[in-house]
Amino acid sequence: MNIRYPGFHFCLLVLLLLPVWAEAASTTEIQGLRLWNAPDHTRLVFDLSSTVEYRLFTLEKPHRLVIDFNATSLRKKLGNLPSGSRHVSKVRYAAQPGNRFRVVLDLQLPVRPRSFLLRPSGEYGHRLVIDLYDRNGQVQPVTTTGKKKSASAPRDIVVAIDPGHGGEDPGARGKRLRAREKDVTLAIARKLKRLIDAEPGMRAILTRKGDYYVGLRKRMQIARRHHADLFVSIHADAFRNSKARGASVFVLSRRGASSEAARWLAAKENASDLVGGVSLDDKDDILASVLLDLAQTGTLAASMRAATLVHREMGKIGKLHGDRIQNAGFVVLKSPDIPSMLVETGFISNPTEERNLTSGRHQQKIAKAIFRGIRRYFQLEPPPGTRLALEKQKKLEQQASRYVIQPGDTLSEIAAKHSVSVASLRSENRLKSDQIRVGQVLRIPRT
Ligand SMILES: [Zn+2]
Repeated sequence: MNIRYPGFHFCLLVLLLLPVWAEAASTTEIQGLRLWNAPDHTRLVFDLSSTVEYRLFTLEKPHRLVIDFNATSLRKKLGNLPSGSRHVSKVRYAAQPGNRFRVVLDLQLPVRPRSFLLRPSGEYGHRLVIDLYDRNGQVQPVTTTGKKKSASAPRDIVVAIDPGHGGEDPGARGKRLRAREKDVTLAIARKLKRLIDAEPGMRAILTRKGDYYVGLRKRMQIARRHHADLFVSIHADAFRNSKARGASVFVLSRRGASSEAARWLAAKENASDLVGGVSLDDKDDILASVLLDLAQTGTLAASMRAATLVHREMGKIGKLHGDRIQNAGFVVLKSPDIPSMLVETGFISNPTEERNLTSGRHQQKIAKAIFRGIRRYFQLEPPPGTRLALEKQKKLEQQASRYVIQPGDTLSEIAAKHSVSVASLRSENRLKSDQIRVGQVLRIPRT
């Protein structure tokens, strides 16, 4: 492409980026599959409408490579691949429950796969590249890249709990009991941590463990260092009107987010790993800000969903201050890549709430409510590679592994629809012939 006019260049850039933004929040489309036979490996390239989360694993007897795409669909049938690959004999694919998409490569021999995502460049858009090497040949590390790493052993979900204030910053003060916000927040945070740690597949970290001050940005850094999946800041603030009462939950306001994006950009070395593995170093500022904004848009939406569930639980144990999630430009909520919320557990300036907030029993109630909201959020949206994600996937697979015969169905159509062979369908269900009847329930073998 030969572009001479800077103005035109800019327009083109914006036009190219807008669809990416729109699709990242929803479904990625597989737009094509290409295959090349290199002397020492076979390369498959999936053309994608946006970046994608995926999982890759091999199966034996017969040798297969399975690629599971999250939140992905297919636009049109994948064309025929060039034949003559040393590694791949056939490509099968099918949509899966939960908006996932599975591609299965039937292999001629065991392979050692390498995979990575590529960002748009030249005539190409987003791509997932999979290189297949002979397993007995040169040793290549098996790597899976993506927004989140998914290793074969499930990892714990990590929740960063941030007890507000601390040390020389006492936070708000109660009038009657002279209770200090920093003590209340630490007490609730510790109780919340115990609840999370007791939950299988989840663990919590505290951004401060005692009575000392931690800078706001440092709190975000601590969360990031522990690869937190969620950041929850605990507060109990004061209002000039001592009658003000009730809990509230905040997420970052869009306005706060966009001014913060500029700030993150100022420190590019910090920002480079924040946009789903896309390095910002070689991008101009317009592009970088769009990419960062894109990452933050998704994070804000996730923050909102998590906050809504916590807010609902808080409403079950006491009064709420306002019936919806509130937005504010709190610095601690500004991680571009970690869904974050701030829970105002109550008004320490209200005498009744001050008494509640200093009571161990009430603190435990608050911690439990926050915990239930968080757990619900992760049950609904388990991060890839976690135990909850595996459990959810198993459940979906169990649901999917049965099929009720509909009028007009044939065994071969059912087999094709589920990417399994007729023979395996027959043996799984101990069928002696291809005859089936409407209403009969078939077990679908796992691919
Ligand atoms: Zn506070």
